[in-house]
Amino acid sequence: MAFGDSPKSPSFKKDRRGWNAAWERDLASVYGSSIEISFATRKSIPSVISGMPTRYYEMLLADSHVGSLQTMTSQICILQRDLTRKASRRFAEDDFESHWKTRCSAKEREEFVLEGLVRACDASPDFEDHRKWCPELTLNRLNHNSGQGFIDLLKKLSLQDIDKVPDDIKILPNVVYDKINALPPNPHPGLVVAKKSCDCGRMYLLTMVVWNILLAFYDESETYGLVKGQREDREELARFQKLAGKEVDVKRVAGEVAANRKLAERHCTSCGLPASKAGVDTLLSCKRCKDIDRLVFYCSKKCQTADWKTGRPPHKTICGKEGAIRDAFFAPKEAAEPAPQDDDSDSDFYGTPSPGYTRSPALLHQLSLLKEHPQLDYVFVRPHPHPDHGVGVQDPLGKMFFKLCFKRAACEHSPREVCKMFQQLEPSARGAPGYGVQLLKKQLMKEFGVDVDVAMKECWPDKTG
Ligand SMILES: [Zn+2]
Ligand SMILES: [Zn+2]
Repeated sequence: MAFGDSPKSPSFKKDRRGWNAAWERDLASVYGSSIEISFATRKSIPSVISGMPTRYYEMLLADSHVGSLQTMTSQICILQRDLTRKASRRFAEDDFESHWKTRCSAKEREEFVLEGLVRACDASPDFEDHRKWCPELTLNRLNHNSGQGFIDLLKKLSLQDIDKVPDDIKILPNVVYDKINALPPNPHPGLVVAKKSCDCGRMYLLTMVVWNILLAFYDESETYGLVKGQREDREELARFQKLAGKEVDVKRVAGEVAANRKLAERHCTSCGLPASKAGVDTLLSCKRCKDIDRLVFYCSKKCQTADWKTGRPPHKTICGKEGAIRDAFFAPKEAAEPAPQDDDSDSDFYGTPSPGYTRSPALLHQLSLLKEHPQLDYVFVRPHPHPDHGVGVQDPLGKMFFKLCFKRAACEHSPREVCKMFQQLEPSARGAPGYGVQLLKKQLMKEFGVDVDVAMKECWPDKTG
């Protein structure tokens, strides 16, 4: 069987371990089976997306196809933001990392991983197929080093801004995948769309699986409603089947797309919610777009207005215009305006991390708490069910000093600043009921990766002797 032929037998509905083993064998033939992902063979693997008939690339440029891709992109962006939010809370409040790594046996972790894989692949008929682009998703790789493999993947998928849906999906590089799907110089525009499709499929499944493993671990379930894609042109598909011959099973793909559409709920184009979650009976559709057979829905006037001006692309630029989505896809991206560096505004106070420094999920959670409560300088996060305890430094000079240390520590790895923060927070931690100095040390460790006891000795060797 050729690499990536899906679905696998036995199906995950009948025998999830057998199903997973079949996938892992297939993945190993291309990505190898060691923890480090590498080419298994010395054979060079031809690009999967290039070398198709030009007619195929032209088909991919259809407005309906690019439109579906844009919808999918928005949905992944929202999911990545939601995953970041959920994960950062779990890291900060429940110490997820140590629960996952120490309180769970390898066998238990495997069960959570399998559950996450099955839930994600069950979400949509075409999801299983994306697994061929996700070598990270094997039991060994995720379970590696007492479950560190999963923690690393989760952290890599997390965004650095917990409050904002990003403008584009966060892509995870992979040495083999990137080589197989590399674009040639001066690619056909359809090839660019094909590449983006593969990237989306890979990132969607990776994020969905990680999201579902996290949920399964906490015995939660939350279905991520699928977005209803745009209609595919059946005649086009039939014409293409003739052209592509046996190489591509167009019928199967078309069948999956149709089944997917049946299952999928309509979502608000702007906020990504289905009617049930947005708290309305039905979504409003855009009439002018409907006339050209494009599906655009909104849950509220507010979302409609927002999408009109700031959608991806802004709805006013594409409304009722055929081919406009494709044009927007290829339009040169406007140079992103540099975020205003306004030190007076509290929301931007903690700035952007230096290149190479990644904020931990627990730190992101802390920053979002501070954003919610701008009068506070720090929040002691206490284990459930105790409420969190806010700290405000009283004297103005001390406050300035504390904020400066915090800002530095939130932008680059700086044990010294974390120690200064600790010294200022220590008295409050002592006095906070159900908290204490040990929990403060633990919290700083989770947030900044700094062991205060060690760092104190390194920064001030004389004092601690
Ligand atoms: Zn909405
Ligand atoms: Zn419209």
